[in-house]
Amino acid sequence: MNLPDTMNTVEGFYFDTYNKITAPCSESLLKEAMEQCAKYHNLLSKTTPGSDVWRCNHAEGKPVEVSEDTVKILTLALEMYRNSGGAFNIAIGSAIALWHFTDGSRKLPDPDALQRAVEKADCSKISLKDREVVMPSGMQIDLGGIAKGYIADRIGDFLKARGVQSAVLNFGGNVLVIGGKPDGEPWTIGLQTPYGKKGEDFWAAVRCCDKTLVTSGIYERSFVLDGVTYHHLLDPRTGWPVQNDLLTVTVVADESLLADAITTAIFVLGPELGAQLAAYYHVPVVFLYKSGEAYCSPGLDLVIP
Ligand code: ADP
Ligand code: MG
Repeated sequence: MNLPDTMNTVEGFYFDTYNKITAPCSESLLKEAMEQCAKYHNLLSKTTPGSDVWRCNHAEGKPVEVSEDTVKILTLALEMYRNSGGAFNIAIGSAIALWHFTDGSRKLPDPDALQRAVEKADCSKISLKDREVVMPSGMQIDLGGIAKGYIADRIGDFLKARGVQSAVLNFGGNVLVIGGKPDGEPWTIGLQTPYGKKGEDFWAAVRCCDKTLVTSGIYERSFVLDGVTYHHLLDPRTGWPVQNDLLTVTVVADESLLADAITTAIFVLGPELGAQLAAYYHVPVVFLYKSGEAYCSPGLDLVIP
């Protein structure tokens, strides 16, 4: 991406990933925006004692009052659970916790423990009324498939409320653009080449203004053992990584909360049912298959170099 000289960029490591905001405005404003990530981390992290998610996971069946932010995320998560036929399921926290995708150990979970974990993952048993959440004792929620999208939306709103008319926010693969480039042209957002150089190799790009572009894929947070790739997108029925023909799913949407949840859901559903879910929400989609072939919804300004 070629940026004019007046651009400023701030980076921060939150949610176990690198985050970056670039805009033609003061560095101090961008820092202030990035610092909001700490607030959301403290609300949504499952490992931070006292966070909304931590309190839900430790409530042992008792009601928990959560913030409005958490209510908005849970509301869409439960809707996506229903509309994806259970493919998107935040209640598989206990199964996710049994996997080691990032510590380099390449250990597989105990199959019996995984089975017990998915048996506890009935998302339809989560009750959300006003700001009160009640979950069955032993259930663990994990917002890893949806929270970054919500945070991108909120930090985008923060910048817009301060007069920013042009910006790119990248929260670990969740990209949100405000307006177009300062010269009025659309932003060109690259789609990362799987296994390529991060931030440098792109297999395609989308030109857009005021949109969010979110990718879910199996080439990060994964390990190979005996020729099998184990990755972090789990089939909620089994707790094992989903096996299908897809390498990545990208959607382009107006809201990053929806885009984050739906890319994860589409990946788990696979291309046929996933395309139906995308059509239901009217979001254009790009599939990159393991074969190297690609599919792009009509009407999307996809540029392939
Ligand atoms: P990333 O976090 O790499 O941007 P995703 O948005 O697709 O990618 O989220 C993947 C995360 O979602 C996993 O690390 C895990 O926390 C969670 N997850 C995995 N499988 C599911 C699923 N079937 N439903 C909901 N969340 C899931
Ligand atoms: Mg997601």
